[in-house]
Amino acid sequence: MRTKLLVATRNRGKLREIVHFLQDLPIEIEGLEVFPELPPVEETGSTFLENARTKALSVALQTGLPSLADDSGLEVEALGGAPGVISSRYGGREGDDAANIARLLREMEGLPEESRRARFVCVLVLAHPDGLWVSVEGVCPGRIAEAPRGTGGFGYDPVFVPEGLERTMAQLSLEEKNSLSHRGRALRALRELLERGEPSWFWERV
Ligand code: IMP
Repeated sequence: MRTKLLVATRNRGKLREIVHFLQDLPIEIEGLEVFPELPPVEETGSTFLENARTKALSVALQTGLPSLADDSGLEVEALGGAPGVISSRYGGREGDDAANIARLLREMEGLPEESRRARFVCVLVLAHPDGLWVSVEGVCPGRIAEAPRGTGGFGYDPVFVPEGLERTMAQLSLEEKNSLSHRGRALRALRELLERGEPSWFWERV
């Protein structure tokens, strides 16, 4: 029998990405569109883990299904880890990528190469309706460019240069981005966990 997994997102792109990384496992993946009445979960935590865990547990408890949630963002060393959990609204308005990038570049104006270190972080939490949960994390180190370059991806991709590369994340193909991105790394870690038969409560208690 295939184990059901509900992905706690209404973002179709994210759902597609998760389905892609977990393909061929004996899991039946569903998105939140099968529960249109569920209210959105507020992201009020001070860490990615707190936000992802709140989302996964809330959806698992309300639906009775094992649920997977993610939270991600950008951490800049010279800004003490900002924008962090407010990455999507750093510029003022939720999801305004251009405003987020504009504020980031403003805050970092004049900072030399060696002070532009940053990392993307993605935390995934798999939660059981009984309250059990497990998390995995993926990190992609890099630096913030002086100006945006490239048209691919989303969010801060045009100003993020992954370690060891000269191109920004927005200048990579989707395959290249998936191979080194924080989300790709977190999803591969989750896949490895599931392939080992872990967590036992996910495979045994549904
Ligand atoms: P969330 O995980 O969907 O809440 O994303 C948080 C925010 O972090 C996004 O709105 C983006 O601003 C930023 N972010 C997360 N992942 C990426 C990425 O892969 N590229 C660029 N920006 C990202």
